[in-house]
Amino acid sequence: MSAPFSWIRPEPQGIHILPADIWVDPSRPVPRALVTHGHADHARGGHGITIATPATLAIMALRYQTREGASPAEYGERVDIGGGVSATFLPAGHVLGSAQILLEHAGERVIITGDYKRTPDPTCTPFAVTPCDIFITEATFGLPVFTHPPIADEISKLLKSLEENPDSCILVGAYALGKAQRVIAELRASGHHDTIWLHGAMEAMCRLYEEHGVALGDLRLVSDAPSKEAMRGAIVIAPPSALDDRWSRRLPDPLTAMASGWMRVRARARQRGVELPLVISDHADWNELTQTIAEVNPQETWITHGREEALLRWCALNQRRARALALVGYEDEDD
Ligand SMILES: [Zn+2]
Ligand SMILES: [Zn+2]
Repeated sequence: MSAPFSWIRPEPQGIHILPADIWVDPSRPVPRALVTHGHADHARGGHGITIATPATLAIMALRYQTREGASPAEYGERVDIGGGVSATFLPAGHVLGSAQILLEHAGERVIITGDYKRTPDPTCTPFAVTPCDIFITEATFGLPVFTHPPIADEISKLLKSLEENPDSCILVGAYALGKAQRVIAELRASGHHDTIWLHGAMEAMCRLYEEHGVALGDLRLVSDAPSKEAMRGAIVIAPPSALDDRWSRRLPDPLTAMASGWMRVRARARQRGVELPLVISDHADWNELTQTIAEVNPQETWITHGREEALLRWCALNQRRARALALVGYEDEDD
């Protein structure tokens, strides 16, 4: 009989499941990988076999042009991955196709959350609270200072600014996978049905979301605009890297906004020259992280991917066993 949980080993380049010789979100190519979601810090091309949800595999095919070795797992489907280990993909509520992965071996249950959030998002399936022995949680916003406001407030701010600046356009920086589509879907839900103009880098991912049943309304490419004038009084969405480059010169007097959890930090907004910071995050904030640990109520919590210290202290104060993992290669593509 081996020691409890000795079958799962956090290593710097990912989490290794020894009896199945398979890795979760590895930062380098491996023969067999389980991938939680399509963001670049979790999903990489070049694995021999990739097991992920169909939407994540479609995102990976789009981003890395690799289709070989794709092995789809539906939410809730229990997949035998060998060595007496099974993997079940459960919704994580982070972006389209995002999953927590429940691993079961010898009666022991471990969940790896990948990235997640608890607030509703019209573009993906909500996080499923699932019991387990070890809960491996992300901690991108693992400080009490990080509390994300309701998204409706941020969307109202954006629409108010649009109304007050009819001769400009509002240029919103948003990550191409997840954030952009969520902002668009929330704008539609709040009754904004005007054309939204897109940077070319957004087009394929928006189309992929629509193919997966997420309606985004009337979208057009900035490069197809008949004139600058056509975009006055409109919302334009571009990747954050395009906010201050030459590309934005084709826009009519753009007012710069950015949708990110980091916009909570005023200095970051100022540093980037953002005039309208929108605190919109696809990660759990401090309250969601602690609420989730309490609800899942594992024997032990492993913390990774962000600010581990404060969450470790919270666990200690609440008589919960916890440890911090030092995994490398996770950077916020997707805050
Ligand atoms: Zn992510
Ligand atoms: Zn991440």
